[in-house]
Amino acid sequence: MRILVVNAGSSSLKYQLIDMTDESVLVKGLCENIGTKGNITHKTGDGRKYEADYPMPTHKQAISLVLKLITEGEYAVISDISEIGAVGHRVAHGGEKLRRSTVIDDEVLNYLETIVPINPLHGPPAILGMRACIDLMPTTLQVGVFDTSFYGEIPDYNYIYPIPYSFYEEDRIRKYGFHGTSHRYVMGRTAEILGKDPKDINMITCHLGNGSSVTAEKGGVAIDTSMGFTPQDGVVMGTRSGAMDPTVVTYIMKNKGISAEEAENLINKKSGILGVSGVSNDLREIAAEAEKGNYRAELSRKMLANSIKKLIGAYTAELNGLDVLVFTAGIGENDAKVREMVCENLEYLGIKFDVNANMSAPRGEEAVLSTADSKVKVLVVPTNEELMIARDTASIAAK
Ligand code: AMP
Repeated sequence: MRILVVNAGSSSLKYQLIDMTDESVLVKGLCENIGTKGNITHKTGDGRKYEADYPMPTHKQAISLVLKLITEGEYAVISDISEIGAVGHRVAHGGEKLRRSTVIDDEVLNYLETIVPINPLHGPPAILGMRACIDLMPTTLQVGVFDTSFYGEIPDYNYIYPIPYSFYEEDRIRKYGFHGTSHRYVMGRTAEILGKDPKDINMITCHLGNGSSVTAEKGGVAIDTSMGFTPQDGVVMGTRSGAMDPTVVTYIMKNKGISAEEAENLINKKSGILGVSGVSNDLREIAAEAEKGNYRAELSRKMLANSIKKLIGAYTAELNGLDVLVFTAGIGENDAKVREMVCENLEYLGIKFDVNANMSAPRGEEAVLSTADSKVKVLVVPTNEELMIARDTASIAAK
């Protein structure tokens, strides 16, 4: 069966067509600047590449173009849309109700509309993408895979915020957690590498990219995670502050006379690594500046590493001991220095970090970073959210 994976953002749309017989990627691509100038990059698994500016005023037109490229002409990989067994949609937020991947129907779409107020950035484009695919492929099964659903088993004492309980009951303000599809993939792959059942491993997975989150897994489910009501909480990120005293925000609002929207923009887009360093949100540029002796670049990197280290300590306590620590995503898979800074002085947790193995680990590949006698294993496991979405979609389609 072939599964089309669609990830619709506000002005972009990522897609992959995966052949589930061997999980190979037949084609992958990206539509950008939807609604403005429009352009597409489309790469087939056998190396053909198409790049062009192409007007796509709506998500529906973008998907229509993708379907045309997939089925017709020089860059086609199948001959008819009917060869797509099902479409899997990446959906960041499934609210409290959508706790597992599910067939998209009117009821699900209506529910997703009701939670747009708590998911204003990612909700509307995802809904547009799903509606467009339903219109263009009315007989093809559409499945939603929700980043939040991995956190359905988190205990109440970890997801309720210590504010009046009515905010949970009336406004659904609680920890939801994000990046769940990535953490779930990495948990499964780590268990495979270790030859164990995920149920038998106490694990901490660190998804460190431009947005970062750390999740604790026990008994094969997530028991805590660093992102919260929004992806703003937790680790210091590229442009997001991560966790800090909430009064910092209200104080700035009052003293600088800025609005809630401006304050959100400040902590979301201008803070974190970028805000502290004043250089960049990209760890490659931070590393180059730190090497030149730029104090604030080095400070921002230390803050990032220490915010992860503190979560590892906290989650090890929650897990009652750790078996495996895993790094994934852009920074986790590529930045050996940050991994070293996170793992140094964690011997008391049973982590013996192999500095040489870490430095020589090939970028973006699976690797073991702990010594042979380390009680806790430390691994790099590249994430693959699209494959996770395709697997969920295929298993629902097979029912
Ligand atoms: P992601 O959001 O997972 O795509 O990760 C993007 C981030 O990964 C970038 O902003 C960089 O900070 C980081 N990154 C990507 N490649 C490298 C690299 N080779 N070395 C260090 N950091 C990297």
